Amino acid sequence: MYEMYDSVQGESTLAGLPCTFIRLAGCPLRCTYCDTPKAIPTDSGQWVDIDEIVKQVSENNRPLVLVTGGEPLAQRHCNTLLKRLSELNCFVQLETSGAYSIASLPAGIRRIVDIKTPGSGESQRNQLQNIGQLVAGDEIKIVLTGRSDYEWARDFISEHQLGLGDVPVLLSPAWGDVAASELCEWLLEDRLPARMQMQMHKMIWGSEAEGV
Ligand code: SF4
Repeated sequence: MYEMYDSVQGESTLAGLPCTFIRLAGCPLRCTYCDTPKAIPTDSGQWVDIDEIVKQVSENNRPLVLVTGGEPLAQRHCNTLLKRLSELNCFVQLETSGAYSIASLPAGIRRIVDIKTPGSGESQRNQLQNIGQLVAGDEIKIVLTGRSDYEWARDFISEHQLGLGDVPVLLSPAWGDVAASELCEWLLEDRLPARMQMQMHKMIWGSEAEGV
C-alpha cells in the first residue's frame, strides 16, 4: 500500500462524501497526466496486512471507502481486499485504469472504470469488454487533455451508446490542460449525455497537495 488517509471524495457521483482512501502502490501504465506518479513504482509502497487495513477502515467509520492507485487491479490481493471491504457497512468504490478485466470482482463494489484517450498515451490498453460488465452504481471516467481528446470521447460515447442508461459517463479535464468553462461549452454544443466533473480536492487544497 502506498498510503491511506481520510478526506472527502473529490470525484465521481459520490463526490463530497467523507471517505477513507486506500491507495495501492504500482501501476504498469504511464498516463501523460498522472497526478500520482509517486505511486507508480511497485516498491513505492509497503506491505500492510488486509486485516489491518479493514480494521482501520472500520474504525474510521466513513460512509465511503475508495480503493485506488496506482492500478489496484495490478495487485494480486486486491480482490480479497475488496471482498473484505464489501462486508463493511459503507459504499466501496474501486477506481481502475480500465486496462484490466473487471469481470471477477466481488459483488457490490462500485467500479469507476477509466477509458483512456489518445492524449493519455495509453488508449491501446483499454479493455473494451469491461463496458458490457458495467451495472447501476458503476461509472465511466474519461480524462481529457484537450479538444482532440474531447472529440475522441464524444465519438466513443456515441459509438458505444453510453451515458443515458444506468452508468454515467464523467468527463474530467486534465488539471491545467482544459478549462472547465471550455468543456462546459463543448458539452452543451454537442448535447452530450455525459457529465463534467472537477477534481474537488484540488480546488479545495490545491493541485500539489498530497494525502487529501
Ligand atoms: S493509470 Fe492512474 S496511476 Fe497509472 S499512470 Fe495512469 S493515471 Fe497514473
